Amino acid sequence: MTEDMFVPDWTKEPPAPGSYRSIVKIGRPDQIKVPSHQYFHLIQKELKLDKKYFEDRCDGNQRLGSVPASNLDAGAIEAFIGMVGSENVQADDYNRVKYSYGKLPEETFPLKRGKLHEITGAAVHPRDKEDVKKIVAFCNDNKIPIYVWGGGSGTTKALLPEKGGITLVLNTHMNRVLEVNELNSTSRVQAGCMGPQYEDALNNAPERFKTIHRFTGGHFPQSWELSSVGGWVVTSGSGQASTYYGEPVNLVLSVEVVTPRGVINTIDYPSTATGPRVMDMFKGSEGAFGVVVELTLKVFRYMPENRLYYSYIFPTWHKAIDAAREICQGQFGLPAVLRVSDAEETDHAFQMYPQKPAVEWFLGAFGLKRGERSICMGVIEGDSDFTKLVKRKMNRIAKSYGGLSIGSSGAKTWEKERYFSFLIGETISDYNILMDTVETPVRWDNLHHIHDSVLAYAHSVPGTMCISHASHFYPYGTNLYFIFGIKGSVEDYVAYRTGLVDAMVRAGGTPSHHHGVGRLMNQWMESFLGKEEMDALRAMKKHFDPNNIMNPGGTLGLDMPDSIKR
Ligand SMILES: Cc1cc2nc3c(=O)[nH]c(=O)nc-3n(C[C@H](O)[C@H](O)[C@H](O)COP(=O)(O)OP(=O)(O)OC[C@H]3O[C@@H](n4cnc5c(N)ncnc54)[C@H](O)[C@@H]3O)c2cc1C
Repeated sequence: MTEDMFVPDWTKEPPAPGSYRSIVKIGRPDQIKVPSHQYFHLIQKELKLDKKYFEDRCDGNQRLGSVPASNLDAGAIEAFIGMVGSENVQADDYNRVKYSYGKLPEETFPLKRGKLHEITGAAVHPRDKEDVKKIVAFCNDNKIPIYVWGGGSGTTKALLPEKGGITLVLNTHMNRVLEVNELNSTSRVQAGCMGPQYEDALNNAPERFKTIHRFTGGHFPQSWELSSVGGWVVTSGSGQASTYYGEPVNLVLSVEVVTPRGVINTIDYPSTATGPRVMDMFKGSEGAFGVVVELTLKVFRYMPENRLYYSYIFPTWHKAIDAAREICQGQFGLPAVLRVSDAEETDHAFQMYPQKPAVEWFLGAFGLKRGERSICMGVIEGDSDFTKLVKRKMNRIAKSYGGLSIGSSGAKTWEKERYFSFLIGETISDYNILMDTVETPVRWDNLHHIHDSVLAYAHSVPGTMCISHASHFYPYGTNLYFIFGIKGSVEDYVAYRTGLVDAMVRAGGTPSHHHGVGRLMNQWMESFLGKEEMDALRAMKKHFDPNNIMNPGGTLGLDMPDSIKR
């Protein structure tokens, strides 16, 4: 077999029960994605991987080894059993490990190889908010740390039980949509409700809640199947359709939060001029102030029959971004999904989905050259008059910036793959290849400077790859999303990722647009926010959680050693 034809022996079977792989697996056990030949050879070329590199492999299918003892005493476990029943307290090794991990490669890569970080004392599954109140009060009295688990999809080490204690798992029982209020266009939902359960209830509101219309929640992160409604809000997440629907922090009308200080239950008015909004303090709070147990959210009419897809190719990334800005500032309405790939990401797409020579010739004749051209694609949703108007206006703007409309198939392919494409990352990580992402909000006036600065750093490190796109648009700017890959050890990956975030922040970006802070971006918090804003966060923490039992150990940059700060 020549180097060119070489294909590694990918793991295509579901993880072995009881194995490390079964814990690090993202999505359903049978959801496995291997790279296409084209994509694999692209990775091989960019990361400079010869056949020999693939001799070292770890699939993580070995059974869990020994696990450090818990710091919870037997009396505490008995107390939790008394509160929620023995069937809802898991203190066995497998579940303790399972509920101690999020989905960041820095955590999952070593775990697959049998190396553990701190492990929770027990996973406790409250049945309802009354259970949560009892548990929080007990933990506060006994100074037992609580780590709140929504869907477990976080990628910032925010679930890492740095101080032991318990992990409070919300998506086991507290996962129902309680009400769809058609008159107010709102839903009332338990915080542990997962994306598909939430959307299913809204789409089927006539059958489930006797409404006239069907509804959608409008929030579709790539991790939609893996994450909870409460998690979306407390991490300040953003979904793929955020350009039209907005972000979860803007979709919330009220929250009920159980804090060690007491219960806060805000009222779901569309707006109120009653001073600073305490509810807003829990947006982005990442389990450090209290447990969000219920939320009232805005919902939207569900009209999939009016959905319109579009794809354009622009001569350059700059022209594509100019067109996207014009679209966002045109005040004729926004598309739900809008994505613009830079030249390198566009080239990757063409290599993954090679076109016939005639198509390449045709694109070249239009001045859409390899290495320069930029794909823009997305989806428009809403009333049918609205979607048609937006598409007509977008076509006109795209044309004026040299964009060629290439129909709907690009956007449809993207949509089909959107909840699975990342699974390639876990397949190739068996072979010491780590893939991950970093993102930052940008204004129009610093977008290109940040983009170029981050890529200058990215390309200065040999044996790595990094591509970028803009997604989540606003009239005032957008988000730059960098997807990177590196071969080697977890230390190499951490150093590379840190360099990318340093470059992003130095150029004027922030450490995160939508993945949150956790124990990953905490290093940049104080230098990014400044002392006064950090002092305000510290004061809130002290108020809501005087004994520091909620997600202690560095999350949000709150209680961490100065030596970690950048
Ligand atoms: C493959 C993949 C793709 C992703 N794509 C996106 C994306 O497109 N957009 C995006 O925004 N994010 C994305 N993420 C990141 C992640 O899915 C989000 O941060 C998500 O909002 C986390 O929700 P969760 O319910 O899984 O929270 P968890 O991971 O369970 O928890 C995250 C943090 O929130 C706290 N928390 C969770 N629920 C509560 C609650 N009810 N009360 C108090 N604290 C709570 C936890 O303690 C922790 O600090 C992606 C992650 C993966 C693995």
